[in-house]
Amino acid sequence: MTAPSRHALVPFVSVDNMMKLVLHIGVERMMTELAAEIEADFLRWPLFDKTPRVASHSEVGVIELMPTSDGETYGFKYVNGHPSNMKKGLQTVTAFGLLADVATGYPLMLSEMTLLTALRTAATSAMAAKWLAPKGTRVMAMIGNGAQAEFQALAFKAVCGIAEVRLYDIDPAATAKCARNLAGRGLNVVSCNSAEQAMEGAQIVTTCTADKQYATILTDNMVGSGVHINAVGGDCPGKTELHRDILLRSGIFVEYPPQTRIEGEIQQLEADHPVTELWQVIAGQAEGRSDARQITLFDSVGFAIEDFSALRYVHSRLKDSGLYQNLDMIADPDDPRDLFGMLLRAGAAQAA
Ligand code: NAD
Repeated sequence: MTAPSRHALVPFVSVDNMMKLVLHIGVERMMTELAAEIEADFLRWPLFDKTPRVASHSEVGVIELMPTSDGETYGFKYVNGHPSNMKKGLQTVTAFGLLADVATGYPLMLSEMTLLTALRTAATSAMAAKWLAPKGTRVMAMIGNGAQAEFQALAFKAVCGIAEVRLYDIDPAATAKCARNLAGRGLNVVSCNSAEQAMEGAQIVTTCTADKQYATILTDNMVGSGVHINAVGGDCPGKTELHRDILLRSGIFVEYPPQTRIEGEIQQLEADHPVTELWQVIAGQAEGRSDARQITLFDSVGFAIEDFSALRYVHSRLKDSGLYQNLDMIADPDDPRDLFGMLLRAGAAQAA
């Protein structure tokens, strides 16, 4: 990373510019490239600073900070999760994030991350399924058809070769929206009336619902052998999607155990229930799917390294794309010790 200039203007990627960047690159190509970035960073897992995210809970939701560093670059994301927002016409999840230069502590980029979170979550899900799902998987059930859903479907198409996505949501309007948005993108989209119907013939099941409770989106009898479950919506204490009995039958793969034990489906299990860290599977240090009949579960909660990878991906494209504005957010006087003098000079200039 290059050192910031004396007049430290910080590039800012707005929602508008993020949309332009995604449309310029193409959603599926960006999913494939993000999945590769995240996978490469999972291979470097031991060198990252890691901590469970810092969460501030309320009755209706959570606000979280997600920091990490690889020793050269530091990143953090601010993200919320408010399932009741949608009924007020607000997003369930919004986010923004920052990259900084470890050598100086100066910010390198500030970015919207609501879209980027949907992209990185989907890319991570698909990357995990590439390692864990049964070979030759073509059909995915998609339960919960809200803001994240189309991103998930397209990431699985691009990274795993999914050809059919079977949609279900308790709100038929969400399913209709999702089917409409996915039309003409080379996926066979089937709208279903129940989770059971959505799961017919599906080798991958993605659950991506939002409800602040111990929900039971899938019961034990719904999950046959050999299925890969990509559980995205259970990501907070007291907010899960799967019946406990499914967990007891599954090989469970997680991002960062100290965080997932608090937030993931496995909060329902004993604290020492065995789980496998996904990075170890990628690095060849742990077994992935053991056989064709095993149920594999990616207990996704979202980890800071995925956001770091996504922010670095966007940062690496700034110069070529020009899709940013400069923010005057770091006071940087010519004489570093003359911060007050900078204020006085500004006052004098104003008075003149
Ligand atoms: P959203 O509110 O836009 O959509 C959620 C959908 O779930 C809604 O359409 C709702 O009708 C549906 N739903 C609720 N209960 C259901 C049920 N019992 N059966 C079927 N459908 C049901 O939310 P979103 O932005 O799409 O996020 C979905 C979930 O994913 C949230 O819980 C969010 O916190 C989580 N999330 C996780 C990660 C991660 O990294 N693991 C990242 C982003 C979001």
